[in-house]
Amino acid sequence: MVTLMELRLYDTLSREKRVFTPIDPAMVRMYVCGPTVYDYAHIGNARPVIVFDVLFRLLRHLYGEAHVKYVRNITDVDDKINARAAERGIDIRQLTEETYKNFKEDVAALGCLPPTVEPRATEHIEEMKAIIERLIKSGHAYVAEDNVLFNVPSMSDYGQLSKRPMDEMIAGARVEVAPYKKDAQDFVLWKPSKPGEPGWPSPGGIKTPGRPGWHIECSAMSWKHLGETFDIHGGGIDLVFPHHENEIAQSRCAFHQDVMANYWMHNGFLQVEGEKMSKSLGNFITIRDVLKDWPGEVARFNMLKTHYRQPIDWTVKGLEEAWKTLDDWYWIANDAPGATISAPVLEALCDDLNTHQVITALHGLRNRIQAGEDKLRGEFAGTLRALGFLRESAKDWASRRQVASGVDAAKVEGLIAARKAARASKDFKESDRIRDELAAMGVVLKDSKEGTTWEIAR
Ligand code: AMP
Ligand code: ZN
Repeated sequence: MVTLMELRLYDTLSREKRVFTPIDPAMVRMYVCGPTVYDYAHIGNARPVIVFDVLFRLLRHLYGEAHVKYVRNITDVDDKINARAAERGIDIRQLTEETYKNFKEDVAALGCLPPTVEPRATEHIEEMKAIIERLIKSGHAYVAEDNVLFNVPSMSDYGQLSKRPMDEMIAGARVEVAPYKKDAQDFVLWKPSKPGEPGWPSPGGIKTPGRPGWHIECSAMSWKHLGETFDIHGGGIDLVFPHHENEIAQSRCAFHQDVMANYWMHNGFLQVEGEKMSKSLGNFITIRDVLKDWPGEVARFNMLKTHYRQPIDWTVKGLEEAWKTLDDWYWIANDAPGATISAPVLEALCDDLNTHQVITALHGLRNRIQAGEDKLRGEFAGTLRALGFLRESAKDWASRRQVASGVDAAKVEGLIAARKAARASKDFKESDRIRDELAAMGVVLKDSKEGTTWEIAR
């Protein structure tokens, strides 16, 4: 194991940056809420995936690869899934399988490692029912018209995570008005399935088949794979209330524990070109759309330029800059072997994943290499790889850049040959003119003893 650098993480529950101390350093345990699989994931969904991938990589570096368990669930039972499958006239399982496969491909292209376990909600119905039975038994939940509801007033310290004023929480909860609720804040653990909807034998002595509410899924899957209490729970800031608040209520009350997770981490929201992303505004971008135009590493870099707790504005300009920087870094790293993380980068990561500072540190390393400290090249390349970059050879990256630039390679080769001929016949005016023409196309020539090579200007 490497010497431990002190890791500090911002915890939403305590509202402070705290030193991270795992319950068991031999197995650090992290749960992150994953996608509801009904359609292509959008670029906002990519943010938690990338952010917690960086944390996963950091934890593996600090505690050892075999000593970190990262669980990211798949929600494969949901109203949106039922509706979409019906709309497309396909089986629910077919829809969720297809969407999950696309999601896995998308996030792999963004340089994210697969989590240790990717549990599916539909494969954890028994665990959900077991938690629900416990909650009913201990008076935290009740059956009403074939629903099981969590009784919020039964938990004396409900609401610690979101710290929302009570009237706001009630207003939020009142969106789902139901006459059978004992309290306006009570939320669904289990509900009856309508004909045609997926259903399972119900808990609580309910005779008709039913299906789980969303919040109970994560309590069940985190319990099954990480235990009653674990280290880190993550997701987007929108999940703080009600999703995470309710997960805490369910898990703590079912297992009689003071905490569900010791650190609650939330990424800020992503907007597009200064506007909230939405289908109606026509600025809704899927990860797939982004990957059509930009290498996955460019998208990853663009995401990490902003600290994860800040809101991020996703722009084409940002992507262009990210690509330029990565072009330069590929060229500087030049396929040097290396696997270590440079100390200033590690320090920045350990400060609540300060990826903005990480990039500053990498620019610093880059400049020192450029100034002649060649021995730093391996450390530079190794750090980039550890962060999920440099997944291609420098040559492949450059040729991809060439393709993306739209420059006609055959035309360039022709001009280079013409320039060579002009130089051979000492027509330097013509050879200079050709060089200028190529420069105007964004092509830089490199003359050496072996001949002339070219690349797209960085
Ligand atoms: P959903 O499929 O809506 O449950 O979202 C999956 C994950 O993506 C959750 O962690 C959300 O918080 C996160 N998420 C959704 N939209 C955005 C966004 N615009 N910016 C950042 N994170 C988001
Ligand atoms: Zn969840």
